[in-house]
Amino acid sequence: MREQVQARLAGERAAAAGRGRRWWALRAAGLATFAAACVLRPDVAVALVVLGAVFTVVERARPLHAQPPAVARSGTGTDAVHFVADEVLAAAGLVAALWVLLPAVHLVLPSAVPEAVRAQPAWLVWVESLVFAEVAGYWGHRLSHEVPLLWRFHRVHHSSPSLDWLSPNRRHPLDQVFARAAVALPVLAMGFAVPTVVAHFALKRIQGLLVHANVDLRLGPLEWLVASPHFHHWHHSDDPGTWNRNYAGQLPLVDLAFGTHLRPEGWPGTYGCDGYVPPSGYLAQLAAPWTSPGPEASAAQRIDLDAEATGRTGGRRQRAAQQAVPGSDDPPGAVDRPLHAQAVVRPEGGDEGR
Ligand SMILES: [Zn+2]
Ligand SMILES: [Zn+2]
Repeated sequence: MREQVQARLAGERAAAAGRGRRWWALRAAGLATFAAACVLRPDVAVALVVLGAVFTVVERARPLHAQPPAVARSGTGTDAVHFVADEVLAAAGLVAALWVLLPAVHLVLPSAVPEAVRAQPAWLVWVESLVFAEVAGYWGHRLSHEVPLLWRFHRVHHSSPSLDWLSPNRRHPLDQVFARAAVALPVLAMGFAVPTVVAHFALKRIQGLLVHANVDLRLGPLEWLVASPHFHHWHHSDDPGTWNRNYAGQLPLVDLAFGTHLRPEGWPGTYGCDGYVPPSGYLAQLAAPWTSPGPEASAAQRIDLDAEATGRTGGRRQRAAQQAVPGSDDPPGAVDRPLHAQAVVRPEGGDEGR
């Protein structure tokens, strides 16, 4: 029995060394991706630094949850790579998608429709286009949650265990392409101008940082009209009873119209979703929709996958193996592990979420 345990531990150590080598290789590849993206889009790299400085000050001034700052928590590097690299990949993917799909839509949509839209007064076209883009974005987002194949990609965004200004950038590029195409395709097909789409995306990008920020900011009755941190934090709550709500990017009234609006008194205490997504590693997260097991993943599987993603030596796995029950796949002590480590703590005197 003693020899069996020693042989098993030796196997664990060899596996851990292999994991370490793979982790360093993936880390180097992630850094190379980041450097290449910064060269291709220096404007986005500068925005990362400038917006990061502004939001770091805002989050320090009015923190919602007591948690490490965005620039010094686990996964910071991964989210920074997402910030720049995804912009490059999503822009290229969107152009390719529109190049294929827009002519196809024009084949079936009567030309009288875009002509009638353009014949209206300019101010009315502008208002209509923003509302139309918002409704299209709502349905794109809602489909990302309700269609299982799309959810595999959108889940990457919802895997953040805590929210701050940097966390919204954790998105799979294909999820980004789908979300943007869901807006751009119908808006352009209807005859609205390209600047409408650009303005919608620019507003959503900046507002996206605010609505995810770890900032204790309530807007009172304005929260019915404008998406706020409180509105979007509930979209990320890990309580299954609150899932699939608050999809709108800017106008909560769209959720109200389609029956998905949620506005409890307090704030959610913890964030996350079902299924497994590596907690860090840009390339590992890009591969997650294909490689990661779903919610049915065993606790032992998750420990191994965490060790693979973080390059840790798997000491907990080894300790568990020493106590393992013969014939059981799950080591003792692993079964109670939460899906995502929730490190969010309410500040003293703060209002209780749930
Ligand atoms: Zn979502
Ligand atoms: Zn979000």
